[in-house]
Amino acid sequence: EHIANQIAAGEVVERPASVVKELVENAIDAGSTRIDVAVEEGGLASIRVTDNGSGIDPEDCETAFYRHATSKIVEGRDLFRITSLGFRGEALPSIAAVSKVRLITSSTGDGQGRKIEIEGGHLRVNEETAATRGTDFLVRELFYNTPARLKYMKTIQTELGHISDYMYRLALSRPDIAFTLRHNGNTLLQTLGNGDVLQVIAAVYGTQAAKAMVAVQAENMDYTLSGYVSRPDFTRANRNGMSLIVNGRYIRNYGLFQAILRGYHTLLPINRFPLAVLQLTMHPSLVDVNVHPSKLEVRFSKEPELYSFVEEEIRGAHQQEVL
Ligand code: ADP
Ligand code: MG
Repeated sequence: EHIANQIAAGEVVERPASVVKELVENAIDAGSTRIDVAVEEGGLASIRVTDNGSGIDPEDCETAFYRHATSKIVEGRDLFRITSLGFRGEALPSIAAVSKVRLITSSTGDGQGRKIEIEGGHLRVNEETAATRGTDFLVRELFYNTPARLKYMKTIQTELGHISDYMYRLALSRPDIAFTLRHNGNTLLQTLGNGDVLQVIAAVYGTQAAKAMVAVQAENMDYTLSGYVSRPDFTRANRNGMSLIVNGRYIRNYGLFQAILRGYHTLLPINRFPLAVLQLTMHPSLVDVNVHPSKLEVRFSKEPELYSFVEEEIRGAHQQEVL
């Protein structure tokens, strides 16, 4: 069981950003409206994720760290009904196998909660504690007992970059959740969770960027498109500022990038790219999310229609702006 956890850990926990991702996805699954992430030394020293979600019942706290104990897949047809992000029940056992974890959680509003401490997969503490409703995960000394994995970690700046990239993308795709990200005590991201994408754009890219945005809002039989694209005079040197969110999930798709660029027609300077945060919603049958294990790549079933829709709407948004 212990060895199995360490092997599984290699798949789930590649680097500090993977821990952040798994803990934050759990917080979202728990219905949190506020999620605070604080990391030290690029997450290698510590990662703390605090949420105001459902909390974990005292009797479920220990089992949450057992492999597959909580797997939500009961039978094949459930695969089509998975709405929550996590469904493997492997994250917590994997993380706990390769770090020192402290969990404080409460599923009630009465100030009573549970504290669990696990070191390298070994349970050290499981006791009652005072806690507010929600969950507070502290993961220290990641990979302390797997030196081979630790050796592969890059610089603190690189590891932090992976964490902040993930948090920025998530904040842009979930403007309804209030996120903070802090590194060594410095606040890198703070969103309000009031649903306002422009506020998140200001938090991620700065107020100048937010002021340079043009709203896009359109729908046809198959697609709803909404969000913001920057005016042609506010550009960047690469595509990293083009965020695509399809059915609530951050994705990358070359065809859509190209459609956005065509929407600018001749307005964009050579080798410059806009800022864009675009939400697309469509029937799940129109998008295949299982193309790549990372789930970042997707394939659309009606590519030409989708691409020309996006291109036309972005062109229209800029023409609107000129009038
Ligand atoms: P999975 O998310 O695939 O179910 P995890 O190992 O990530 O597996 O989490 C195990 C279980 O622990 C979850 O199913 C959930 O019941 C509980 N859990 C983990 N984190 C939280 C959280 N922040 N709030 C409430 N419950 C949580
Ligand atoms: Mg999970």
